[in-house]
Amino acid sequence: MADNLGITVKKEKDFSEWYTQVIQKAELADIRYNVKGFLVFQPWSVLSMEKMYKYLEKVLQKKGHKPYWYPTLIPERNFKLESSHIAGFTPEVFWVTSHGDNQPIEEKLALRPTSETAFYQMFSYWIRSYRDLPFKTYQRAQVFRYETKATRPFLRSREFHWVETHCAHATKEDAMKQVYEDMNTTKEVLHDIYGLPFMFFERPEWDKFPGAERTFAADVLNPDGKVIQQPSTHLLKQSFAKAFNVTYKDKEEKDQFVWITCYGPAISRIFASVIIVHGDDKGLRFPWKIAPVEIVIAVIKPNEELLKKAEKIKEKFQEQDFSVEIDATERTFGEKCFFWELKGVPIRIELGEKELKENKLGLFRRDLSKREKVEEKDLVKEVKNIAQEFDKNLTEQADALFNNKISPAKDKKSLKAGIESGKIVKSEFCSVANEGRTCAEWIEKETQAFVRGTRLDETEKPKGNCIICEKKATALVYIARSY
Ligand SMILES: [Zn+2]
Repeated sequence: MADNLGITVKKEKDFSEWYTQVIQKAELADIRYNVKGFLVFQPWSVLSMEKMYKYLEKVLQKKGHKPYWYPTLIPERNFKLESSHIAGFTPEVFWVTSHGDNQPIEEKLALRPTSETAFYQMFSYWIRSYRDLPFKTYQRAQVFRYETKATRPFLRSREFHWVETHCAHATKEDAMKQVYEDMNTTKEVLHDIYGLPFMFFERPEWDKFPGAERTFAADVLNPDGKVIQQPSTHLLKQSFAKAFNVTYKDKEEKDQFVWITCYGPAISRIFASVIIVHGDDKGLRFPWKIAPVEIVIAVIKPNEELLKKAEKIKEKFQEQDFSVEIDATERTFGEKCFFWELKGVPIRIELGEKELKENKLGLFRRDLSKREKVEEKDLVKEVKNIAQEFDKNLTEQADALFNNKISPAKDKKSLKAGIESGKIVKSEFCSVANEGRTCAEWIEKETQAFVRGTRLDETEKPKGNCIICEKKATALVYIARSY
């Protein structure tokens, strides 16, 4: 078999190279597009991400979010209305300032980096009374950010694909309920469907979304011990409602400002975690529900008779709503096996002269890396059985990643040791308000790890001193390296 077909490094040994090879060899994205930081998503990732969108949007709609399509352009004056938001985003904004042959346009426009300032302006037209609340929206969109850090396909690029939800509520309590609902949605979709294990942390003061009063973010663990921030949900400061004059009349006919929440699951970035968490030394492993193709029929030394048989089997599966592809290429059987395992197809059916004669086909499943022989008449039934348990197997394997990953640290030395060994370190900390920032910066400098925040479901209470400055601890924080 040609060496360049398979992955040539072990995932555990050289994760970075493994990731690069998977993206190229499984044809997920092509980075040769000639705008820096932008790339082309190829069919194998698009087919999967379409399914990811479908599940996410279905859950959002079930919970009462209505879909919108907003313009990609946002006028600069909208941004200027909320000062902390513009301060946070301006360095990353792409601006549109001219048309035609460098003719200036009426006003400076931003390619949306996120759409708070587009949505809330319209909220002020649409929301009138407490009866309109909660007002729950979302859109599926591409957003643009001039990243200055090195870009990596799916993980960080200057254009990414996401869903953003924006909701207005009568009270702060209602808004916080929405934040909890967003966290549940994350569990229902990212964990229960995509099979990704994560932990939610409330971010410290210095790491909040620009303009947020509180920020909660899901960190997905990488096999190399780093975490990747996935969806975050925010209780925004009322400065947004005030800036855009989003008010409602309460039951006493008095004008009140709404409370706004937003939530931003980035599908293209979550797809990176799907690659990373489920993949193995052979390549991708897609959960069944989001696999671009569920079954491939690998025809061994294809001839007319075998192809006819393959077509018949394909039809049988398609009648049952499975997605199937036939591989009747010139590749050798060994190469076909390598190729489709690299592509992460859940099921491979093997059909050649011998199988045709015996009426028994080879059946390989990617979740357990197991091969068996199955009578042709039992094929659909057997695949249905596998489909039932496939995602559970992948999710259980992924959940095990988090076992023993939390390591408590009592001092600077054990903090460094924990981070070095790829753990998420838990420790006593002076403060997650701005007073604690100096200690967080010490940690960043000394260990290249970050204070990810506190957990809402924390059962312990801080009782000692900050392991950095030794002042009395007011929080138990989690510290990890991140992407
Ligand atoms: Zn401290």
